[in-house]
Amino acid sequence: MTDVQLIAGNWKMNGLNSAIAELDAMIAAPTSPAAGLLVCPPATLLAAFAERAKGSAVGIGAQDCHWEVSGAHTGDLSAEMLADAGATHIIVGHSERRADHGETDAIVRRKAEAVARAGLTAILCIGETLEQRDAGQTLEVIARQLEGSVPAIDRLVIAYEPVWAIGTGRTPTVEQVAEVHAAIAARMGGVQILYGGSVKPSNAAELLAVPHVGGALVGGASLKAADFLGIAAATALAGAQTAGAS
Ligand code: PEP
Repeated sequence: MTDVQLIAGNWKMNGLNSAIAELDAMIAAPTSPAAGLLVCPPATLLAAFAERAKGSAVGIGAQDCHWEVSGAHTGDLSAEMLADAGATHIIVGHSERRADHGETDAIVRRKAEAVARAGLTAILCIGETLEQRDAGQTLEVIARQLEGSVPAIDRLVIAYEPVWAIGTGRTPTVEQVAEVHAAIAARMGGVQILYGGSVKPSNAAELLAVPHVGGALVGGASLKAADFLGIAAATALAGAQTAGAS
Protein backbone atom coordinates (compact mmCIF):
# COMPACT_ATOMS: atom_id res chain seq x y z
CA MET A 1 0.00 0.00 0.00
CA THR A 2 1.19 3.51 -0.80
CA ASP A 3 2.34 5.82 2.02
CA VAL A 4 0.58 8.75 0.40
CA GLN A 5 -2.93 9.11 1.77
CA LEU A 6 -5.57 9.95 -0.81
CA ILE A 7 -7.88 12.78 0.21
CA ALA A 8 -10.75 12.61 -2.27
CA GLY A 9 -13.54 15.17 -2.38
CA ASN A 10 -16.98 14.13 -3.60
CA TRP A 11 -18.84 17.30 -4.52
CA LYS A 12 -22.07 15.38 -5.28
CA MET A 13 -24.72 17.62 -6.95
CA ASN A 14 -23.04 20.84 -5.88
CA GLY A 15 -21.07 23.47 -7.75
CA LEU A 16 -21.52 26.00 -10.55
CA ASN A 17 -18.81 27.53 -12.73
CA SER A 18 -18.06 30.05 -9.99
CA ALA A 19 -16.84 27.18 -7.76
CA ILE A 20 -13.63 27.06 -9.78
CA ALA A 21 -12.37 29.64 -7.25
CA GLU A 22 -12.33 26.86 -4.62
CA LEU A 23 -10.34 24.62 -6.95
CA ASP A 24 -7.91 27.47 -7.59
CA ALA A 25 -7.36 27.83 -3.84
CA MET A 26 -6.72 24.09 -3.53
CA ILE A 27 -4.24 24.18 -6.40
CA ALA A 28 -2.42 27.22 -4.98
CA ALA A 29 -2.02 25.84 -1.45
CA PRO A 30 1.13 24.00 -0.41
CA THR A 31 0.11 20.45 0.42
CA SER A 32 1.70 17.82 2.56
CA PRO A 33 3.76 15.22 0.65
CA ALA A 34 1.77 12.72 2.73
CA ALA A 35 -1.44 13.66 0.90
CA GLY A 36 -2.69 13.21 -2.65
CA LEU A 37 -5.64 15.46 -3.44
CA LEU A 38 -8.50 14.49 -5.73
CA VAL A 39 -11.60 16.55 -6.45
CA CYS A 40 -14.67 14.89 -7.98
CA PRO A 41 -16.94 17.71 -9.15
CA PRO A 42 -20.27 17.24 -10.93
CA ALA A 43 -19.82 16.11 -14.55
CA THR A 44 -20.72 19.59 -15.81
CA LEU A 45 -17.49 20.95 -14.31
CA LEU A 46 -15.21 18.01 -14.95
CA ALA A 47 -13.50 19.14 -18.16
CA ALA A 48 -13.01 22.72 -16.96
CA PHE A 49 -11.62 21.53 -13.62
CA ALA A 50 -9.29 19.05 -15.32
CA GLU A 51 -7.98 21.77 -17.63
CA ARG A 52 -7.43 24.12 -14.69
CA ALA A 53 -5.73 21.48 -12.54
CA LYS A 54 -3.41 20.25 -15.31
CA GLY A 55 0.19 20.13 -14.07
CA SER A 56 -0.86 20.71 -10.44
CA ALA A 57 -0.89 18.29 -7.52
CA VAL A 58 -4.70 18.10 -7.58
CA GLY A 59 -6.29 15.25 -9.54
CA ILE A 60 -9.81 15.40 -10.92
CA GLY A 61 -12.27 12.51 -10.75
CA ALA A 62 -15.88 11.65 -11.58
CA GLN A 63 -18.71 10.48 -9.33
CA ASP A 64 -20.21 7.67 -11.39
CA CYS A 65 -20.19 6.08 -14.84
CA HIS A 66 -22.18 3.71 -17.03
CA TRP A 67 -20.62 0.30 -17.66
CA GLU A 68 -20.84 0.42 -21.43
CA VAL A 69 -18.49 2.33 -23.74
CA SER A 70 -21.24 4.14 -25.65
CA GLY A 71 -24.81 3.66 -26.81
CA ALA A 72 -28.46 4.42 -26.17
CA HIS A 73 -28.30 5.40 -22.48
CA THR A 74 -29.79 8.86 -22.25
CA GLY A 75 -28.17 10.98 -19.60
CA ASP A 76 -25.39 8.53 -18.80
CA LEU A 77 -21.64 8.92 -19.25
CA SER A 78 -19.14 6.17 -19.97
CA ALA A 79 -15.81 5.78 -18.22
CA GLU A 80 -14.12 6.45 -21.56
CA MET A 81 -15.96 9.79 -21.88
CA LEU A 82 -14.93 10.75 -18.38
CA ALA A 83 -11.32 9.81 -19.11
CA ASP A 84 -11.53 11.93 -22.25
CA ALA A 85 -12.76 14.86 -20.13
CA GLY A 86 -9.72 14.51 -17.85
CA ALA A 87 -10.79 12.22 -15.00
CA THR A 88 -8.18 9.98 -13.41
CA HIS A 89 -10.54 8.30 -10.91
CA ILE A 90 -14.23 7.41 -10.86
CA ILE A 91 -16.27 6.78 -7.71
CA VAL A 92 -18.57 3.77 -8.08
CA GLY A 93 -21.15 2.28 -5.75
CA HIS A 94 -21.61 5.34 -3.54
CA SER A 95 -24.43 4.61 -1.10
CA GLU A 96 -26.46 7.50 -2.51
CA ARG A 97 -26.36 5.84 -5.93
CA ARG A 98 -27.12 2.45 -4.42
CA ALA A 99 -30.14 3.97 -2.61
CA ASP A 100 -31.36 6.55 -5.17
CA HIS A 101 -30.74 4.53 -8.32
CA GLY A 102 -31.13 0.97 -7.10
CA GLU A 103 -27.53 0.05 -7.87
CA THR A 104 -26.80 -3.52 -6.85
CA ASP A 105 -23.42 -5.09 -6.13
CA ALA A 106 -23.54 -6.65 -9.61
CA ILE A 107 -24.03 -3.24 -11.24
CA VAL A 108 -21.27 -1.70 -9.14
CA ARG A 109 -18.95 -4.49 -10.22
CA ARG A 110 -19.67 -3.83 -13.90
CA LYS A 111 -19.01 -0.13 -13.37
CA ALA A 112 -15.69 -0.81 -11.64
CA GLU A 113 -14.71 -3.08 -14.55
CA ALA A 114 -15.59 -0.25 -16.93
CA VAL A 115 -13.37 2.17 -14.98
CA ALA A 116 -10.45 -0.24 -15.33
CA ARG A 117 -11.21 -0.77 -19.02
CA ALA A 118 -10.87 3.00 -19.51
CA GLY A 119 -7.49 2.96 -17.75
CA LEU A 120 -8.70 4.85 -14.68
CA THR A 121 -8.78 4.05 -10.96
CA ALA A 122 -12.09 3.01 -9.36
CA ILE A 123 -12.95 4.28 -5.89
CA LEU A 124 -15.46 1.62 -4.88
CA CYS A 125 -17.72 2.44 -1.92
CA ILE A 126 -19.08 -0.03 0.59
CA GLY A 127 -20.68 0.42 3.99
CA GLU A 128 -23.43 -0.71 6.31
CA THR A 129 -26.68 1.03 7.26
CA LEU A 130 -27.42 1.90 10.87
CA GLU A 131 -29.97 -0.90 11.02
CA GLN A 132 -27.33 -3.39 9.88
CA ARG A 133 -24.80 -2.08 12.40
CA ASP A 134 -27.32 -2.22 15.23
CA ALA A 135 -28.13 -5.80 14.24
CA GLY A 136 -24.44 -6.72 14.51
CA GLN A 137 -24.21 -7.41 10.78
CA THR A 138 -21.52 -4.90 9.79
CA LEU A 139 -18.70 -7.30 8.95
CA GLU A 140 -21.08 -9.67 7.20
CA VAL A 141 -22.45 -6.82 5.04
CA ILE A 142 -18.96 -5.61 4.21
CA ALA A 143 -17.86 -9.11 3.23
CA ARG A 144 -20.94 -9.52 1.02
CA GLN A 145 -20.39 -6.18 -0.69
CA LEU A 146 -16.71 -6.95 -1.31
CA GLU A 147 -17.60 -10.37 -2.67
CA GLY A 148 -20.35 -9.06 -4.93
CA SER A 149 -18.99 -5.74 -6.17
CA VAL A 150 -15.20 -5.92 -6.38
CA PRO A 151 -13.80 -7.23 -9.66
CA ALA A 152 -10.23 -8.40 -10.13
CA ILE A 153 -8.76 -5.12 -11.35
CA ASP A 154 -5.41 -3.49 -10.62
CA ARG A 155 -6.28 0.15 -10.10
CA LEU A 156 -8.69 -0.03 -7.23
CA VAL A 157 -9.32 1.97 -4.07
CA ILE A 158 -11.97 0.86 -1.58
CA ALA A 159 -13.87 3.48 0.42
CA TYR A 160 -15.48 2.29 3.64
CA GLU A 161 -18.40 4.63 4.26
CA PRO A 162 -20.89 3.69 6.96
CA VAL A 163 -24.16 4.93 5.45
CA TRP A 164 -25.25 6.38 8.80
CA ALA A 165 -22.13 8.58 8.96
CA ILE A 166 -22.57 10.21 5.55
CA GLY A 167 -23.69 13.82 5.82
CA THR A 168 -24.93 13.32 9.38
CA GLY A 169 -22.05 14.70 11.42
CA ARG A 170 -21.85 11.31 13.18
CA THR A 171 -18.67 9.30 12.92
CA PRO A 172 -17.89 5.80 14.13
CA THR A 173 -15.38 5.42 16.96
CA VAL A 174 -11.79 4.81 15.96
CA GLU A 175 -12.22 1.24 17.24
CA GLN A 176 -15.18 0.71 14.90
CA VAL A 177 -13.23 2.15 11.95
CA ALA A 178 -10.21 0.02 12.85
CA GLU A 179 -12.29 -3.16 13.03
CA VAL A 180 -13.83 -2.70 9.59
CA HIS A 181 -10.64 -1.51 7.91
CA ALA A 182 -8.74 -4.49 9.31
CA ALA A 183 -11.44 -6.82 7.97
CA ILE A 184 -11.29 -5.21 4.52
CA ALA A 185 -7.47 -5.30 4.51
CA ALA A 186 -7.52 -8.97 5.46
CA ARG A 187 -9.69 -9.80 2.46
CA MET A 188 -8.21 -7.34 -0.03
CA GLY A 189 -4.49 -7.43 0.86
CA GLY A 190 -2.58 -4.37 -0.35
CA VAL A 191 -5.51 -2.30 -1.58
CA GLN A 192 -5.70 1.33 -0.45
CA ILE A 193 -8.73 1.80 1.81
CA LEU A 194 -10.30 5.20 2.47
CA TYR A 195 -12.60 6.08 5.33
CA GLY A 196 -15.62 8.26 4.47
CA GLY A 197 -18.45 9.75 6.53
CA SER A 198 -18.50 13.22 8.14
CA VAL A 199 -14.73 13.71 7.94
CA LYS A 200 -13.78 17.29 8.80
CA PRO A 201 -10.60 19.12 9.80
CA SER A 202 -11.34 18.58 13.50
CA ASN A 203 -11.61 14.77 13.33
CA ALA A 204 -9.38 13.98 10.34
CA ALA A 205 -6.13 13.40 12.22
CA GLU A 206 -7.57 10.71 14.49
CA LEU A 207 -9.42 8.96 11.66
CA LEU A 208 -6.42 9.06 9.30
CA ALA A 209 -4.18 7.61 12.00
CA VAL A 210 -6.24 4.42 12.29
CA PRO A 211 -4.35 1.37 10.97
CA HIS A 212 -5.28 0.47 7.38
CA VAL A 213 -6.84 3.89 6.74
CA GLY A 214 -5.17 5.07 3.53
CA GLY A 215 -7.02 8.35 3.17
CA ALA A 216 -10.49 9.85 3.24
CA LEU A 217 -13.48 10.26 0.96
CA VAL A 218 -14.98 13.60 1.90
CA GLY A 219 -18.39 15.01 0.97
CA GLY A 220 -19.56 18.26 2.56
CA ALA A 221 -16.17 19.37 3.84
CA SER A 222 -14.61 19.08 0.37
CA LEU A 223 -16.63 21.95 -1.07
CA LYS A 224 -14.59 24.66 0.64
CA ALA A 225 -10.85 24.78 0.02
CA ALA A 226 -10.09 25.76 3.62
CA ASP A 227 -11.83 22.68 5.05
CA PHE A 228 -10.53 20.31 2.41
CA LEU A 229 -6.97 21.55 2.87
CA GLY A 230 -7.41 21.29 6.63
CA ILE A 231 -8.22 17.61 6.19
CA ALA A 232 -5.25 17.13 3.85
CA ALA A 233 -2.97 18.79 6.41
CA ALA A 234 -4.08 16.19 8.95
CA THR A 235 -2.34 13.46 6.94
CA ALA A 236 1.00 14.74 8.18
CA LEU A 237 -0.34 14.91 11.73
CA ALA A 238 -1.73 11.40 11.40
CA GLY A 239 1.71 10.19 10.30
CA ALA A 240 3.32 11.95 13.24
CA GLN A 241 0.81 10.40 15.66
CA THR A 242 1.39 6.95 14.22
CA ALA A 243 5.16 7.43 14.39
CA GLY A 244 4.86 8.77 17.93
CA ALA A 245 2.84 5.76 18.97
CA SER A 246 5.42 3.26 17.77
C1 PEP B 1 -19.64 11.04 0.98
O1 PEP B 1 -20.66 11.41 0.43
O2 PEP B 1 -18.90 10.22 0.41
C2 PEP B 1 -19.34 11.57 2.30
C3 PEP B 1 -18.42 10.98 2.99
O3 PEP B 1 -20.06 12.67 2.70
P1 PEP B 1 -19.82 13.53 4.05
O4 PEP B 1 -18.34 13.76 4.18
O5 PEP B 1 -20.58 14.79 3.79
O6 PEP B 1 -20.35 12.72 5.17
